[in-house]
Amino acid sequence: MAKIVELKNINKIYGEKIKTQVLFDINLGFGENSFNAIIGESGSGKSTLLNIVGTLDKPTSGEIYIKNQRTDTLDKNSLARLRNQTMGFIFQFHYLLPEFTAKENILMPYKIQSFKVPKEVDEWADELLNLTGLTKVANNLATNMSGGQQQRTAIARALINNPKIILADEPTGNLDSESTENVYKILRNINEKYKTTFIVITHDQRIAEKTDRIIEIKDGRINMDLKK
Ligand code: ADP
Ligand code: MG
Repeated sequence: MAKIVELKNINKIYGEKIKTQVLFDINLGFGENSFNAIIGESGSGKSTLLNIVGTLDKPTSGEIYIKNQRTDTLDKNSLARLRNQTMGFIFQFHYLLPEFTAKENILMPYKIQSFKVPKEVDEWADELLNLTGLTKVANNLATNMSGGQQQRTAIARALINNPKIILADEPTGNLDSESTENVYKILRNINEKYKTTFIVITHDQRIAEKTDRIIEIKDGRINMDLKK
């Protein structure tokens, strides 16, 4: 399988005076269209690793390749463009803009590149609303939706620019078990329908078990890498 993300010898050290090494010589590749879970105890380095993959943070040493392009040496503007066009992010806390509707929030990453929304993008937003079961609340303000609906809005927002890669940091961390199952189904559906690669940090054992691969991080190292 072709690799869409590749990490080579990644080390991460936080701090200047007091240095804390958080990641140790991580080598990992993620195949196109794969659905990957990252598990591990709190503080083990999962978010640091995901942020480095997403170019939100830089490694102290090592190389990162996204679609065969080296990213750790790119400047800020090129990175911002690469992120906006290639990657979608879903976090535990959704960071929706409260004064905008569900649909407006979903369109936001598109509007960052070009303010005018063409018809096909507007229709894609409608399709995403449908896919995430939000058609009925499309015009609700973000604050006038349930937690599950808000998180599904954040998922649709992550997809508006047709990213090849979705990075999710405990996307169901705040949801009850029914919403968790629902969100997982939507993510899997997107993975199958649009061939999107997923890297999902999760504490939920039931979710991890359904993915194609489980990577366990322990004290900044890969402790287990289980492909199914
Ligand atoms: P996880 O997501 O697995 O809970 P993190 O990647 O958030 O773990 O954190 C790993 C370690 O790095 C923790 O000990 C945390 O305190 C530390 N850490 C995370 N971010 C920073 C930072 N910006 N500055 C210093 N230490 C950090
Ligand atoms: Mg974390």
